[in-house]
Amino acid sequence: MSNNTYEVIVIGSGPGGLACATLLQKRGVKTLIVEKNEVLGGKMYSIDADGYAYDLFPHGQVPTRGNAFEQIFAELGCSEDFKPALDVDDQREMITLAYKRAGWKNYKITSQKQALTDATGFFNSWEATPEEQEKSMMLIGEMLSLTAEDLAKLDRVTMEEWLAERDVPAPLYSYMGFQANASLAEPIDLVSASEMILIMQQMMLQGGGGQYKGGFAMLTNVMVREFEKNGGTLIKGCRVNKVIVEDGAVTGIDTDKGQFKAPVVVSNAGLQPTVIKLVGEEHFDKAYVNYVKSLVPGWAFTSVRYFLNKPVMKTGLYVMWSDDSWYDMERYKKMKDGNIPEEVILFMVNHKFFDPDAAPEGKQVLVSGTVCSANPEAKEIEALWKKMDEQMQQVFPDIWEATERKEYTGPREISNLTRDSVVKGSGGECVGLAQIVGQCGIDKPKSELPIRGLYVVGADAGAAGMGTHQSGLSGMYATKQIQRYLAARAKAL
Ligand SMILES: Cc1cc2nc3c(=O)[nH]c(=O)nc-3n(C[C@H](O)[C@H](O)[C@H](O)COP(=O)(O)OP(=O)(O)OC[C@H]3O[C@@H](n4cnc5c(N)ncnc54)[C@H](O)[C@@H]3O)c2cc1C
Repeated sequence: MSNNTYEVIVIGSGPGGLACATLLQKRGVKTLIVEKNEVLGGKMYSIDADGYAYDLFPHGQVPTRGNAFEQIFAELGCSEDFKPALDVDDQREMITLAYKRAGWKNYKITSQKQALTDATGFFNSWEATPEEQEKSMMLIGEMLSLTAEDLAKLDRVTMEEWLAERDVPAPLYSYMGFQANASLAEPIDLVSASEMILIMQQMMLQGGGGQYKGGFAMLTNVMVREFEKNGGTLIKGCRVNKVIVEDGAVTGIDTDKGQFKAPVVVSNAGLQPTVIKLVGEEHFDKAYVNYVKSLVPGWAFTSVRYFLNKPVMKTGLYVMWSDDSWYDMERYKKMKDGNIPEEVILFMVNHKFFDPDAAPEGKQVLVSGTVCSANPEAKEIEALWKKMDEQMQQVFPDIWEATERKEYTGPREISNLTRDSVVKGSGGECVGLAQIVGQCGIDKPKSELPIRGLYVVGADAGAAGMGTHQSGLSGMYATKQIQRYLAARAKAL
C-alpha cells in the first residue's frame, strides 16, 4: 500500500470515530483518522490551561460503570487506565438538588448521594408525602424491572404516553420532564420511552453523572495514545471536503491536505452532513436522501462557566428545576416565539469535587447548561444566558458572589467545534439526531449506508443510551460490520 492508502479512513475524532478507529487498528486494520480541529475528541472536549482542567461542556457519564469506554479500554488492554473520578459506591453527598414545586415561592435546596436507589434526599427536595413516596417507588420499581424486550416495545411510545397510563405524583412528573431535557436534550412528549427508561435504569443501577480526572478528554487521550501505539495514522487540523465515490463504492476522501485512498470510509461528522455535504445527494437514491433530510436534530445546550475565587461549592453536581421550567413542545415553542420563561432548568458540574487538579488552589469552576435549539443562529441564546445568571444569583448567591469571571457558549460554538449545519436549524446538537420516537431502537438510523464501504458512527447511528456512551457503542458495533465487509471484499478480489 502506498503512503496515502489505508484499509479504513475515519473522518472525525469524536467518541464514535475514536472508538471505531482505535479498535480497528488494535485488530490490525490499517486505519487513518482525519480530524478538522487541532484538538481531538469532538464534544468530549476538555480545557487544560492556566491551572484549570475541566470540560468545555457540562458532561456526566451514564452509566458510570460498564459503559462503552470501559469495554473499549479492556479490549485495548489498558483497563488500569479506566479510572472514573467517582466510585459507584462513593458515600459522599454528591448532588445538590434545587427544586421549586408549583405554588412555592422559593427553590428548596437539598443534597443527596449519587444514585436514586436511596431517594431520601430526592423526596426531601419536594417534601413528598408518604403516599407520593409510595407511588414514586412503585413507578421507579416498574422502570427498573423492564427487560430489554420490554423496552424494545416502547421504541414508538413517548415518555409522556408511558407516564399517562400511570399514577405519577406531579413532582415526579416534573423530574421526568427535567431528565428528558437534561439527559437527552429532548422534550418528554417526543422522547422515546425505551431510550429514556434505559438511561434511567443505567443511572440507578450502574451510576449516573460519572466524571474523569482531567475531564472527558481522558477517554480521548487514552484511545489516541493506543491508536498511535498500534500503528494508526492521525492527521489533525485537516478538514475533509468530500468522500470520493466511484461505481457505487467509496474509494477515499478529498481534504485540505490532499487525497487519501481506502475502500472503507467511516464518518463521525453526523449522518446529515455526511449524506448531504460530504458524499453528495447525487450518489444516493432519492427516497434515502428524503429520509435523511426528514430526520430531526436534537436540541442543544447553552453553557455558562463560572470561575470562583473561593471554594464555596460542596457537591459535584448541581441540578435545578421546577414544575414550570422544563420544556415540553408547547413550552419550547413559546420560548422560540420570544417568550423566555421565568425559570429554566440547569445542569451543572463542579469539576474540583471530582479532581483536585481541576482548578488552582482555593478556586473552583462550575460548568452550567440549559437546553435550547440546535440552530447556530438561534436568537434566544443571549436571553437564556441572562436568565441562567439571574437564577444563579437568586438561588445560589454564594456561588454568584464568588464568581470572578464567566464564559458563555451555545449552539454556534458546538457547531463550529463539531458538526456542520446542513439542514435548517441544525449543527449545535448536544447529542446528535434527536432520540425521539421514530429515530430510536428499531427506527435508529443504521451505521451502514447504502453505498458500498460507507459507514456513519457516533450519536446518530447504530446504538442507544446517553450521548458519549452511545457514540462509543456505535463505534464499537460498526467495527464488526466493517471487518465483515473488508473480509468479503478481500475474498471477492
Ligand atoms: C453541552 C453538551 C452537554 C452534553 N452533556 C452530555 C452528558 O452529560 N453526557 C453524555 O454522555 N453526553 C453529553 N453530551 C453529548 C456528547 O458529547 C455527544 O453525544 C458525543 O460526544 C457525540 O459524539 P460523536 O461521536 O457523535 O461525535 P462528535 O463529538 O460530534 O465529534 C465529531 C467529530 O468529527 C469532526 N468532524 C466533523 N466534520 C468533519 C470534517 N468535515 N472533517 C474532519 N473532521 C470533521 C469534528 O471536528 C469532531 O471532532 C453533551 C454535549 C454537549 C454539547
